[in-house]
Amino acid sequence: MSHHLHLRGSVPPLSFRGGLDARFSPGVPWHFASSSSNVGVAAASSARTLRPPQHRAKVMAKEAGEQETAALGWAARDASGVLSPFDFSRRAQKDDDVTIKVLYCGICHTDLYIIKNEWGNAMYPVVPGHEILGVVTDVGSGVTKFKAGETVGVGYFVGSCRSCESCGNGYENYCYGMVLTSNGIDAEHGGAVTQGGFSDVIVVNEDYVVRVPDGLPLDKAAPLLCAGVTVYSPMMRFGLNAPGKHLGVVGLGGLGHVAVKFGKAFGMKVTVISTSPGKREEAIEKLGADDFLVSRDPGQMQAAFGTMDGILDTVSAWHPISPLFALMKPMGQMVFVGGPTKPLELPAVAIVPGGKGIAGNCVGGMRDCQAMLDFAGKHGITAEVEVIKMDYVNTALERLQKNDVRYRFVIDVAGSLGTTA
Ligand code: NAP
Ligand code: ZN
Repeated sequence: MSHHLHLRGSVPPLSFRGGLDARFSPGVPWHFASSSSNVGVAAASSARTLRPPQHRAKVMAKEAGEQETAALGWAARDASGVLSPFDFSRRAQKDDDVTIKVLYCGICHTDLYIIKNEWGNAMYPVVPGHEILGVVTDVGSGVTKFKAGETVGVGYFVGSCRSCESCGNGYENYCYGMVLTSNGIDAEHGGAVTQGGFSDVIVVNEDYVVRVPDGLPLDKAAPLLCAGVTVYSPMMRFGLNAPGKHLGVVGLGGLGHVAVKFGKAFGMKVTVISTSPGKREEAIEKLGADDFLVSRDPGQMQAAFGTMDGILDTVSAWHPISPLFALMKPMGQMVFVGGPTKPLELPAVAIVPGGKGIAGNCVGGMRDCQAMLDFAGKHGITAEVEVIKMDYVNTALERLQKNDVRYRFVIDVAGSLGTTA
């Protein structure tokens, strides 16, 4: 008999399953999650050259009087995950919608799983991107929070049911009706498959838009919209934001490196646990970590036994987790945010004797996202980024797969696709 408890089955957990979240929502028919991949999408083109911006304008929607907006993005068409230019249209701006010209968009490891269909839920064509930083170009007549010209962000989701307990408590990120920004199903808008921020324009309900504080460099702020809130939210939820506490951060990638920065800004002791000895110097000198452990070095791991109050595990691939639990003090709290496709293995003995806690976290609610940005603005927290043009995106995705980025690729969308909206 196996002495291992499996953290999950053979498929990724619900919170990682993108459009499948909507599939399980009340009132959302199954067929929206099936192969109806381009519902609501106009004129898909195969790979073709970019149109000059002046040729893109508002286009008439099928419904009289409603104007959809022509959009240009880069989409994956199949599980090769290769992106190419893609013409589509954004829904007509409604009274409570904001139209945003996308300036920058980060590349999250989640985008990689989705476009390669590693989570089994891709609805091609998929325009990825949920770390969106842009400027408001137009607002509906009922919009109260934003006006044209303001710098705003959009993260992992663009809608939720608004009536469940999670929504009521400010945790829209745990609403079963959450509408993902990319590869989601927008039941409220005819069941259209949502398309993300690797595109020049996006239309979003104002309640799912956040304000970006003045002073933050826009390219470096973009990754905060997913990576930032995904680490900030559980730190707040589990008290891993208290000065003097000791936080472990596993995996120094897009999420991990901002976790180090938030941890230090909270006044914590922060130790990175990494498979990449080459990241040690930067982790300590540039990112401000107090210590750095190579997870594959049993001596280093043993020396840190029982020292941490909590750990954020941001690793994107299967990895042994028992040694990580051993790093925590009794009743320490482990939080998983990574979404490896292969189930992790948890021997009960890793958590039972020390009474250790284990939790998952999926991004954060709108309140947390705004609070995270305001905190980042106050403390000057941004991501370390490599800014690229859109035509480098396929190379960037290959490099991300190989753990060859320090620490987040950000696409200069406006500088690549011209202007519209
Ligand atoms: P990333 O930039 O690729 O970073 C992942 C890090 O994991 C790497 O830098 C590497 O750090 C470590 N790693 C990679 N392969 C490993 C292996 N085989 N064994 C041990 N460590 C390994 O990815 P990311 O964008 O930060 O995303 C991380 C994970 O979080 C992904 O699974 C992503 O889907 C998920 N995610 C979840 C949420 C959420 O809401 N829960 C939000 C965004 C992303 P070292 O070199 O330091 O070892
Ligand atoms: Zn993400």
